[in-house]
Amino acid sequence: MVECWNTYRDHLEKVYGKRVYRIGIDGGFSCPNRDKERGGGCIYCDGTGASAIYQRTTERGFTHASSFHEKVSNATPLLVPSLEKRCASIKTQITRGKLFLADRYKAELFSAYFQAWTNTYADKDTLKTLYDCALEEGPFTEFIVSTRPDCLDDEVLDLLESYKGRVQKVWVELGLQSADDATLALIERNHTKKNYIQAVDSLHMRGIGVCTHVIIGLPGESNRQFSETARLINSVGSEAVKIHNLDVCGGTKLNDWYREGEVSVASGRRHLENCIYFLRQLKSDIVIERMICETPQHRLVAPRSFPDKSAFLGSLHNAMEQQGFRQGDFA
Ligand code: SF4
Repeated sequence: MVECWNTYRDHLEKVYGKRVYRIGIDGGFSCPNRDKERGGGCIYCDGTGASAIYQRTTERGFTHASSFHEKVSNATPLLVPSLEKRCASIKTQITRGKLFLADRYKAELFSAYFQAWTNTYADKDTLKTLYDCALEEGPFTEFIVSTRPDCLDDEVLDLLESYKGRVQKVWVELGLQSADDATLALIERNHTKKNYIQAVDSLHMRGIGVCTHVIIGLPGESNRQFSETARLINSVGSEAVKIHNLDVCGGTKLNDWYREGEVSVASGRRHLENCIYFLRQLKSDIVIERMICETPQHRLVAPRSFPDKSAFLGSLHNAMEQQGFRQGDFA
């Protein structure tokens, strides 16, 4: 089946001859946007950090957002574990990830993906120790680090560049979410569009690939802002994009607004229409790595009836195919 957008699977198969599987890693980082002086973080952040399903060993057993949020908010803040413990945990996560992916998908090629929280939020020596711990468990095809546009100083950029000889490609995933500074202020991202442009330029100067994270359907946004975001991504030359719908999680400011009736979230059908609109504005060679959130049900307040990933992608493909639409039609 020829997809109507540039899929991640096709891209990996084209470049490496077969599918490459990411091993999601939680390196024990936190986030500058959750520090006291900045406030409580982005309005949608529930303070748990993104992680792969096979790494969520402490979340098993929760069935609903309220019980999970109660546990998170009552928890005694943990001291940051020693570097030694963080390294040991990284190695365990990689072993667990490899076993899971090999068993479920017969995976042969792997990438190391620092996924949870802001993975450049530490001094250079700490970062180097943690990144090295992960890469020692290789071989890895790619090395991928997820972070914020305002958390990449020259030392960190140089460190990331230094890994280019150890893997076939180094990537940084940057949370932009929207190109509209008013939206970024509303959702309390505490970075600007300019921070993003500077970060992408600095990464590209060092030959590091960029995948941009966006949320389609933020409060107050419509097609005008979606176009603005797509145009910005096109203009900076981001090689890949991850698209998310807006999920409301327990214990967040967004949840308060949602319960007060101040904001609504897109249904599966509305997100599908938004994705089509957005994809048509995005250059056709940009790789689409993700199209929806996959928030675990025990953390999710809304939307509660959203199609799963494969159902959503199938509906999106059919809708685009029937209407003769392709990624990049309007780019
Ligand atoms: S940048 Fe990520 S981890 Fe930090 S507050 Fe926002 S959503 Fe949470």
